[in-house]
Amino acid sequence: MAARGWPELEAALERIRREGAWHEQPVVERIDGARLVVDGREWLSFRSNDYLGLGQDAEVRRAAAAAVSGYAWSTSAARGLTGNSPWHRELEAALARFLGSEDAAIFTGGYFANVGLLPALTGPGSFVAIDEACHASTREACKLSGAAWAAYPHGDVAVMERLLAGAAGGDRYAVTDGVFASGGDLSPLPDVVRAARRHGARVLLDDAHGFGVYGEEGRGVAEHFGLEAEIDVRVGTLSKAGGGVGGFVAGARPLVEFLRQRSLPYLYTAALPPAVRAAGVAALAVLAREPERRRRLWETTRVVHERLRALGLDLGRTAGPLVVVWFGSATRTRAAAAALERAGVQVLAMAPPAVPEGAGRLRLALTLHHRLEDLERLYAAMAEAKAAADGEGNGEGAGR
Ligand SMILES: *Cc1c(COP(=O)(O)O)cnc(C)c1O
Repeated sequence: MAARGWPELEAALERIRREGAWHEQPVVERIDGARLVVDGREWLSFRSNDYLGLGQDAEVRRAAAAAVSGYAWSTSAARGLTGNSPWHRELEAALARFLGSEDAAIFTGGYFANVGLLPALTGPGSFVAIDEACHASTREACKLSGAAWAAYPHGDVAVMERLLAGAAGGDRYAVTDGVFASGGDLSPLPDVVRAARRHGARVLLDDAHGFGVYGEEGRGVAEHFGLEAEIDVRVGTLSKAGGGVGGFVAGARPLVEFLRQRSLPYLYTAALPPAVRAAGVAALAVLAREPERRRRLWETTRVVHERLRALGLDLGRTAGPLVVVWFGSATRTRAAAAALERAGVQVLAMAPPAVPEGAGRLRLALTLHHRLEDLERLYAAMAEAKAAADGEGNGEGAGR
């Protein structure tokens, strides 16, 4: 007898389409700086998180190529078997040095770092308070952990503190992203740290969008706030400002050693290919050696914020190169997104039901790939987007 088919999933897919919640996954056929080709059409893209241009950097690409030719393409096994190439330990040591932490453990991605962390550290008897806007991987980690956990309203440290205070004994964790991808805003980290300290909770910072971008030396949002010594666990990824692939957990030696013994996504998956690790080492070297990349990104960021605000656009609490523009209703947001699409400018549109009604927004990431003429094209397209949105009525009820 043939397999049964999946009518229930076909119905679910139909529902996802009907609700406008379908995740489009366009195939990028070619990349050159911020220009990419999808279905034969060229776009100016603001969707990549390659903030500092390292993903296309010649030196980083050469490092990857050299590791492939002198070694093997794959590790063909987990770290405990044949997965521990010289570059793996070198990358972990380089990350720890860069961040000024005692040690760091590498995972397949930031997603795996998160689902490898809380489930290893916590369990029944533990309590985790997490910002509701944290990345999907941290929320998934809470579910996998077996710990009691609760999400608090975005940025509401008073509620976070009440949750921690009300938790029964046992170990407690306060979990926050450094930069929130949904609003481009920063964690109120000083308040989070103070409240966590009052209740004996450890602070876990997922700084995926902050690493390499924030702080004088690029060590992220904790450096930006001068709070590095206060953070118990730092999670990050090389897939954004690092221009590559690979998640990490950085912190004190016993923490990292414990993960090497007990974290399932660290132990039981093939280690990333040596070329990926070699590229990571090279990218970190560039990050440390060329702070002017970060300075240029921030100069661009300040100018773009100003120019977009001058158009009358609402940037909410956008703090840096991950720029979120609020448009209000679903119809206004869709009209704005359509105008940008006509202009060949690619951004990420977040319209209801993906976000609450009234809180539709467009997200764009500024990178060193964007040249002056690209930015001029962005301003022109955003002016058209605003006009198209205004044609659908005013922005009343923009919930933030
Ligand atoms: C992107 C991101 C991740 C996932 O990182 P990957 O390396 O892409 O798996 C995790 N957490 C946050 C906050 C992120 O923004």
